[in-house]
Amino acid sequence: MSAEKITTQCAIAGGGPAGMMLGFLLARAGVDVLVLEKHADFLRDFRGDTIHPSTLEVMHELGLLDEFLKLPHQKVREIGGIVGDEKVIFADFTHLPTRCGFIAFIPQWDFLDFLADQAKPYPGFKLMLRAEVDDLLWDGDRVVGLRAKLPDGTLDVSADLVVAADGRHSKLRALAGLDVEDLGAPMDVLWLRLPRRPGDGSQTLGRIQAGRLFVMLDRGDYWQCAYVIPKGGFEALRAQGIEAFRADLVALNPALADRVDGIGSWDDVKLLTVRVDRLKRWCRKGLLCIGDAAHAMSPVGGVGINLAIQDAVAAANILAETLRARLVTEELLAKVQKRRQWPTEMTQAVQLFVQKRIISNVLGMTATPRPPFVLTLFNRFPFLRRLPARLIGMGFRPEHVHSPELLP
Ligand SMILES: Cc1cc2nc3c(=O)[nH]c(=O)nc-3n(C[C@H](O)[C@H](O)[C@H](O)COP(=O)(O)OP(=O)(O)OC[C@H]3O[C@@H](n4cnc5c(N)ncnc54)[C@H](O)[C@@H]3O)c2cc1C
Repeated sequence: MSAEKITTQCAIAGGGPAGMMLGFLLARAGVDVLVLEKHADFLRDFRGDTIHPSTLEVMHELGLLDEFLKLPHQKVREIGGIVGDEKVIFADFTHLPTRCGFIAFIPQWDFLDFLADQAKPYPGFKLMLRAEVDDLLWDGDRVVGLRAKLPDGTLDVSADLVVAADGRHSKLRALAGLDVEDLGAPMDVLWLRLPRRPGDGSQTLGRIQAGRLFVMLDRGDYWQCAYVIPKGGFEALRAQGIEAFRADLVALNPALADRVDGIGSWDDVKLLTVRVDRLKRWCRKGLLCIGDAAHAMSPVGGVGINLAIQDAVAAANILAETLRARLVTEELLAKVQKRRQWPTEMTQAVQLFVQKRIISNVLGMTATPRPPFVLTLFNRFPFLRRLPARLIGMGFRPEHVHSPELLP
């Protein structure tokens, strides 16, 4: 076992949307940056696939939109659901004042690979895979670096700034002793794949039936499915057996009868635990948390990736120049929190409202649900669909790229 030591201006723990976008933006601005990702690649199943209009706008500002949209993707211009027996469309993105009036569904590993490819030409960018950060390095009360486990030893990284972008189970925020406010979530999600047949169509629709919520995302040759269960309810479901689960899926969507046998056992069904929380302080001397590490997002609205990207854009706007000059202060880190706190709190407030008023109710229902009156208004007055589209597609106070670009 060897212990390696390196020095960088910014060390980022976690190569998810927040970490990769920040790594790219800082390298683009001439900062020496190292992103450490614990997995060997980005190819993991349990990542959201939604790239929203606000993120597409950021890609445009970076001059990358056309290239990005060459990746295989589906354009989703409306979001709707089937509540009981009734179809409701409640968000229409085509009127947004953005370059793209749609959500691009792109497997997240393609998005992250794309960012890595764009970042690589910048001399300051380094991505290390299979590097699991498991400790912080301190000088008194200041974080001055991190320690990572590598396949063949350990790595000590000295850095002017450590960024925790290690997701909703962030180890770094715990190591830094930052207080977490748990906001609660009534559900967990089961994540599974089903084959897609040529005649299936491609509309992404949620299905709401008594006690159940089911979403199918088009991933080309298969459907990525999310089946929402009450928090902690997985064991009870397992106890009923896989056959009962298959029958439940068919009851939700009879068109699946010809393929549910593809779910051979519970090994084909992943449990994703949902958390909604946020830090009281996102930073301390030498360390900043962004993305889910600062505020774990509910899957409601599928906005977590975009919030993570917005955090990265804001952090790069505020910090790039001073990082390059090696002058980052705690006050400047606090500015990132100040900039992003309000959009985060507003988004989580909406998510908590939906979790409490809609998801909890649906999960507790025993009779076939009917769309609530407010939802029926979206079918009667289609222009109302623009408001949810704005909240989901652009969010609160979208960020724009102001960090500089130094040519590679
Ligand atoms: C069930 C579910 C479905 C969701 N669906 C969507 C959706 O469709 N659309 C959407 O926008 N959002 C969705 N979200 C939310 C979204 O996944 C997150 O908000 C978003 O991924 C946050 O990005 P991030 O970069 O902050 O963290 P993450 O995406 O979690 O990335 C963190 C990265 O850090 C790495 N890592 C962790 N620990 C370490 C360590 N110690 N050392 C090194 N690396 C480490 C991880 O491997 C990971 O790559 C969903 C969430 C859940 C729970």
